[in-house]
Amino acid sequence: MNKEAKVEHLHEYKMNKIIMHIDMNAFFASVEQQINPALRGKPIAVIGSNERTVVTTASYEARAYGIKTGMTKYEAKRLCPHIILVAGDTGRYTDTCRRLVEIYRQYTPMVEVYSIDEVFLDITGSISLFGSAEVIAQKIKMDIHKRLGRLTCSIGIAHNKLLAKLGSDMKKPDGLVIIRQDDVDTLLEHLPVKELCGIGLQLERRLSVMGIKTCGELGRASIRLLRNQFGVIGERLKLMAQGIDDSPVIPLEQEPDAKSVGHSMTLDRDVSDMETLERHILHLSEMVGRRLRRGGYAGRTVAITLRYPDFNTFTRRSTTGMHMNNSIDIYRVAKDILNTIRLQQPIRLVGISVCNLTRNVAQIPLFRSDRIKQAATRAMDEINDRYGDFCVTWGTLIERYHHTGVISPSWRPDGVKCVNLSAQKTREKKV
Ligand SMILES: [Mg+2]
Repeated sequence: MNKEAKVEHLHEYKMNKIIMHIDMNAFFASVEQQINPALRGKPIAVIGSNERTVVTTASYEARAYGIKTGMTKYEAKRLCPHIILVAGDTGRYTDTCRRLVEIYRQYTPMVEVYSIDEVFLDITGSISLFGSAEVIAQKIKMDIHKRLGRLTCSIGIAHNKLLAKLGSDMKKPDGLVIIRQDDVDTLLEHLPVKELCGIGLQLERRLSVMGIKTCGELGRASIRLLRNQFGVIGERLKLMAQGIDDSPVIPLEQEPDAKSVGHSMTLDRDVSDMETLERHILHLSEMVGRRLRRGGYAGRTVAITLRYPDFNTFTRRSTTGMHMNNSIDIYRVAKDILNTIRLQQPIRLVGISVCNLTRNVAQIPLFRSDRIKQAATRAMDEINDRYGDFCVTWGTLIERYHHTGVISPSWRPDGVKCVNLSAQKTREKKV
């Protein structure tokens, strides 16, 4: 892209869009401190209930001791012996996220929930109603304070999502950073490439080998060279380094249909007995089935993902002739797949997903036994919708430990989560 084209491109953004990125500060820890005043001002770390859990969020008081997301609780204790470990409660965080989204919706309908503690707002159409982007940001901060107490956020404002996210990262906690078009080139010139959302460790390493360390250097790199190295994303990398990003804010109701629905969990201990493994598979099948039914989906392919203690991970799939969303059907297929696998080691993580999805499947089953099964499932879903997940479930699951796992980055306030098991990492998302 030549210089003229770039200027024109940017001009278009400047005229068209004002994007805000809101990142809640130390979200899980702040929610816990808000709910329990005894935790305020103290170093706390939110962990899962699982024996092998890691720190998902540390309060700012704990961060002062060097405690970071991803550390084991033993490492955290070593750094700060008086740290308070709090078992995370998924329900509290999803509930708070829903309440935050209600606040944002007062300012714009264009709210994209990027993760449990991050959103993008397109406030282009809201400026004339509220004054300026800065005014909207201040109002949002005040609303959060009024309705949710001590929660703070960092806000970045720019003409696209990439730069808005960069802005919110620049000042924590309680920041407000506006990146103006005229400042973009100066800001990016010496900025390390890894600071851009979407450039991970691997890409950073590969670029570094090519002698590219800053966005300035990446933005000037030859397009042919980048294409040779990175294929189709080569061009996109160059544009990103120039601060160009035309990805739209996608509100919840416009999210593309799910390609797959899945869930995985790291087990309390490595498991080699089939009965325990099958119980976990039933549990996961119910979680996946419920989400499919809630979103009005059914799928033909069931996949099971297993991970050994050495992190060797593999997925096996089976495609059936019918679309299904009944938990027991999913479980049966998953169990059949499991029976074809000769386990080499005990299992550390297990995941179930369903793909090849179709929407709005309202078939009336042919056989009476299937009709009964469907009615039972519907009754169970209704009770669980009202009184909470797993209020009514199968006997085999009753001994199930209280699993307060980490929320998938693809969590959404309502409807279907798109989880790609193969891409899922064990490292919990930083919040
Ligand atoms: Mg955050």
